This record gives sequence, structure tokens and C-alpha cells, in this order.
Amino acid sequence: MNQLEILAEVSKIIGNESCATSVPSEPSPEVDPSGKPGKLEKRVIKNVARAISDFNLIEEGDRILVAISGGKDSWVMMYVLEELRKRAPVNFELVNVNIDQGYRGYRQDLIEDVVEEGGYSYAMEEFNIANIVAEKVKPGDVPCSLCARLRRGKLSGLAEKHNCNKIALGHHMDDFIETALLNMFYVGKMASMSPKLTTDVQKITVIRPLMYCEEEDIRRLCNKKGFPIVCCQCPLACGNNDQLDSKRVFIKRLLKVLETKIPNIRQSLLTSLGNLKPSHLLDRNFLDQLSNSSKPL
Ligand code: SF4
Repeated sequence: MNQLEILAEVSKIIGNESCATSVPSEPSPEVDPSGKPGKLEKRVIKNVARAISDFNLIEEGDRILVAISGGKDSWVMMYVLEELRKRAPVNFELVNVNIDQGYRGYRQDLIEDVVEEGGYSYAMEEFNIANIVAEKVKPGDVPCSLCARLRRGKLSGLAEKHNCNKIALGHHMDDFIETALLNMFYVGKMASMSPKLTTDVQKITVIRPLMYCEEEDIRRLCNKKGFPIVCCQCPLACGNNDQLDSKRVFIKRLLKVLETKIPNIRQSLLTSLGNLKPSHLLDRNFLDQLSNSSKPL
């Protein structure tokens, strides 16, 4: 069975996810009428707090640009960081920034309504990535790496503009695991994402506070809080286009199937990313360091 055939089989089991703009018309059945945070919300907040503590993601005096796209991950990140800010022992500020990337039909107004009504500190920005991609990418080529580079560059510029020293991105546990597996399966590299990384040029630090949160928890909390899912309107991302990143889709679905046999597989894979035993791996740089070091690596 080749990859596409396996993918088709797995799709039959778990179905497809769609990305369409949706505004909840009535409260989610998961909403607690008392308004108190339930188990799910407490778990997500606890996981974010643990990531912040483990990797020293937020420090006294930080001013953090929170990148909000209108997708579930960024909504939950915005909500949880604000909840933590209110009760944190250190002082830090958040600026929630949204970029309209120029795709026709993008509902930036829906996002602005939510941040405005919620009393969040925010800025609405525009950067026409759609036009640049249309000009530079040849027909048939996938523009995602150019698009992502442009967005990262823009976010760094916006961090400077809004006097932020950090940028928070909404990558969650499943992104970390999938990236690690993609690198191992297709690239021949053991690497995932960095929870905290400072760029050499602008000295802006990128942080990923959702790294311990499962995607399913994020999806449920977003639904519970009633945030609208605002589709970016990129024809590639929003057209249920499995060809776009079929390898990631494949890994995602494979994990779902494996999870039926190994219920704790996600936690185990995430733990393994923080539990290396370099002396039992084949990286010659590590092994050279090991032979020159008195301490075991
Ligand atoms: S799917 Fe569209 S918005 Fe997403 S990275 Fe690719 S080109 Fe950019």
C-alpha cells in the first residue's frame, strides 16, 4: 500500500476537517452556565503556564506581540495569555496583532469585533502577501514557504513597530510532534520546533506557549469560548486541499490511527523530544563532544 492509499484508508476512518469561516450562532453545549473555568480550560491554562515556566518564555517587562489569525490556535493563545497576565507574578504586556494578507473575502472585521468587545489590546494590520505570491510564484508551484517567510518578516517588523521584544505563535503539541515525525520520515533529521528562539538580526524572541496543549483541547476550548473561526481565504489553505501539505496530513491521520492502539502516543512522543540520550544516537558531533567531555551527554 503506498502513502496515498494509506491516506485514503485513514480518511475513511477519521474523515476530513474543513476550514471555513464560521461564527457560532448559539452557545456551545460545553459552556458552563456558572461561567467558571471548567476542567478543560484549567488544563489548557495549566499547560501554558507549565511551558512558560519550563522554558522561561515570559519575563518581567516583556511586551509580547500575539499573532492572531482568526484560527482556533491563535484565539485560545490570546485568551489564555490574557488570563495568565491578569494573575501573573511578573508584569508583562500583550498586543494582539492580526494581519490581513490580502485574500479576497477575509473577515478581518469579525476578528476586530471579538478583540474590541473582549477589551483586548490589539492592532489590525495589512500586508498584501496574496499579491506578492501571485507575482513571484510560477503556476503550479506551492507558494507556502515564500508566504511563511513573508509573514515571519512582517511579524518581526510589526514587533518593532509596536515596541515588542517577543512574538507569540500558536503552535501546539500536535504541531511539535508532527514536525518531528516529518523531519524523521522525510528529511532524515531529528528536530522539531523551538519553544523559544531569538533571531540574530532583530533580537526578537519567538515563543510558542501552546507547546504542551493538545490540538483537540484547543479546538474544544475555542468552541466553548465561542470564538469565530475566520478562514484566511487563501485558496490553497481553505479549499480542503490535501495536496497542499499531504505529508503533514498523512502524519496527522497516521497518529490518529496509532492512537487507537497506543492511547498515550502523543504525550510519549512529546516527552521523547525532551528526553534525548545523545550517546545512544548516531550524531557524530554529539559523539565527538561526548568523547571530549567528562560529563555523560
Ligand atoms: S496555504 Fe496559503 S496562507 Fe497558508 S502558507 Fe500556503 S500560501 Fe500561505
